[in-house]
Amino acid sequence: MSVMNQYEDHFLPAYSNYPQGRYVSILLVRRVESEAIFRTEGSGEPLSKEFVHAGLADDTVIQRVVISKRKQTAVERRTGRQLLRANDLLFKKDAKSEVCSLNRNNPCEKCMDCMIYGYAAGGGGAQKSRVVTDDAFSLHGAGAVTDLKQFNALFDNSTMRDPETGKASTSIGTDEYVKPESIFLDIETLRDVTADEFRYILGNILRSTRYGAISSRIGKVKNIVAGIVFSDCELFSNLELTQSVYDLLREGEPEPDFPLAADTVVTAVNAATETLAEQVVGQLTIVPSADLHALISEIGAFYRDGVAVTEMLENTSKIYGAQG
Ligand SMILES: [Zn+2]
Repeated sequence: MSVMNQYEDHFLPAYSNYPQGRYVSILLVRRVESEAIFRTEGSGEPLSKEFVHAGLADDTVIQRVVISKRKQTAVERRTGRQLLRANDLLFKKDAKSEVCSLNRNNPCEKCMDCMIYGYAAGGGGAQKSRVVTDDAFSLHGAGAVTDLKQFNALFDNSTMRDPETGKASTSIGTDEYVKPESIFLDIETLRDVTADEFRYILGNILRSTRYGAISSRIGKVKNIVAGIVFSDCELFSNLELTQSVYDLLREGEPEPDFPLAADTVVTAVNAATETLAEQVVGQLTIVPSADLHALISEIGAFYRDGVAVTEMLENTSKIYGAQG
């Protein structure tokens, strides 16, 4: 029996626009795998940072690097939309409209992307996103995970040559970057999704790798699913999780080691989840790690089967009443 079937009670049997109070929280360890800049390079803007408490155990305050929630879901939406486009499942709102696109703000209001991640249409229509996330904080303090580097400014065509004149770029800027093996913790909360919508969202997370500035190749990130929790309410915040994990990993030292092995962080996320879950007022089902590993393999195998993926996308696109 597939792992997804074992947990089918936690998914909606059919799409519904009315809140049903079924939440799926995906706990993510986002591990930076190359030097990363989470905004436009060469702009001279500093990285986004916030002063927050280091952990939950004492009053020490540190500065953490922040990745905005918008940046995170925008990347995953694009990954999903590529798949929808390849399967001809992005639609037109009406005969006069262009095909649904994120950049031009012309949502079709009936594709999986519009219906899952939400849209706000100029004409007043709106669908709230059923994938809710928050800003993600670096596990370590900004001092441990950032450095400065000189960059040649890139042109729009992502090269160092001006596409019109062919001349090489001479402008050099200093940019602050996030070091490889920096860790960001993030919880994506899915509200009232069907099993296939869950497959789509989780696939988008696992298949997204570039979170940096759009015009560069800087910013490779690996998303590791550390845990999945089903519940009838929202869990704790990204910041609480980050602080709790920080306390577990510093083991009496002022700061945890840097860099840390991904497995060490995942183990700490699981321990922190158990502790923080005790304060959540609601019914929680924490997926055991053996089931989680089996589920991730199942999703991997599913995405390697192009026919099954197309069939799932076509069937799901119909549940919203979409007609291409
Ligand atoms: Zn759409």
